[in-house]
Parts: sequence; C-alpha cells; structure tokens
Amino acid sequence: MPRILPAATIRTQLVLPLRFADGYATTARVFTFDGLADGLEHLAFGLGDRAGPFTPEVRRAMPPLVRPHSECLTGDVFGSQRCDCGPQMREAVERIADVGGFLLYLRQEGRGIGLYAKLDAYALQDGGLDTYQANVALGYTEDDRDYTAAAQMLQALGLARVALLSNNPDKAVQLGRLGVIVTERVRTGVHLSATNGRYLATKARHGAHTLDVPLSGPGARRLTGDDRAAERA
Ligand SMILES: [Zn+2]
Repeated sequence: MPRILPAATIRTQLVLPLRFADGYATTARVFTFDGLADGLEHLAFGLGDRAGPFTPEVRRAMPPLVRPHSECLTGDVFGSQRCDCGPQMREAVERIADVGGFLLYLRQEGRGIGLYAKLDAYALQDGGLDTYQANVALGYTEDDRDYTAAAQMLQALGLARVALLSNNPDKAVQLGRLGVIVTERVRTGVHLSATNGRYLATKARHGAHTLDVPLSGPGARRLTGDDRAAERA
C-alpha cells in the first residue's frame, strides 16, 4: 500500500528564463512549496508545455517527463569532472523541454549526506575507497536520499502519473511506494569524462543503475546495471 503523504501546496510560481554555459536557452516555470516533509527548499522547474499555464489541454496531455535531480553544487555549478551531475542536468532540461515535464531540483547534496561530507568522501576516495564505501566509512548509509518531498511536489502539481527520466531503479521504486504511478522509465545518456569513469562504473555495478560504461583494461567490455542483477542471480 502506498504511504499516505502529508499534503504540500504550491507556494509561488514564476517564469524564469534559463541559459546554460553552452548557450542552450529555454524558459521554465519555477514552483516553490509549503509543507514539504523535510522542510528543505526544493524546486520544481516546469519545462516545455509545462512552463506555461496549466490549461485543461496540458493537464490531459501525456504523463509528463519528470527528472528528480539531486543537488550537486560542485557538478551543477562548478562543472566538477568527478561526477556527471552537470551534464545530466543539462541533458534533462532539454529533453524535458522538448516533450513537456518537470525537473525536480532536490536539495540532497552528496546523496543526502551534505556538501562537506561529500567532499570528505571524495578525500577518502582519493585513498582508494569507492563512492559507496566512502559514505559507509563516514557513518552514512550508502544512499541517504528519500523521495517523500519529490512525491509531495508531484502531488501538489496534480501529477499522479509520470514518465520518469532516470537510470536509478531506486527512484522509481521509492516513488511507487509513495503513490506516484511511473508509467515509463526513460534512460538518460552517459556523460563520461577522463575523471568520472570509475564513479560511473561504480554506480552501474553497485547501484544497479542502467548505464552503459565502457571499462578499460584487459577484457574490457561495457558494464550495465543489469550486470549486478546477474552477479546476484
Ligand atoms: Zn555530482
């Protein structure tokens, strides 16, 4: 049974023109909320036909494409090459704007452990731990993210059904438990750089993300999230 969510309400909405570093520009309708369970200032960005007023036609349209994006200051703002968050967000904004939907910007820095702890974990990774081992060594669970606020935001926006833009199966499972009907899972691209390959391979192997990450070295092949299920089987 899905959990009964405490109701959140739309607090403000406003139009925000966006322009990214590569010149891509679009317009978003940004929503803020009252009553979010964790009290944090999460945002929803309506894009494409969801950037305009919610007419009956828009409400009747296909389930919107929704990407829950976890805040990453270093990746989103400063272009850190240790992760793929910046390019993931940039891709998501354009893909959502093309078909209509929402980017949920969730203030869950460092998989929910916070910015300083994330940087502590980076320091441990430089000593040889992977991203999940480092979080555990710091006393956190492997992934502290909770999507209750995301589900509340969707509910406040009147969205019971969504197409989910994500490679992370945990997001779909958690949102399902929270009463959101995920009609479809849409995969994002892989944004490989010289310095994030190990991070992406760990996500694919450990987090069961559906990523195709080319591995280097003898017997190199492409690693997918399905490999993890295969290892367990
Ligand atoms: Zn990141």
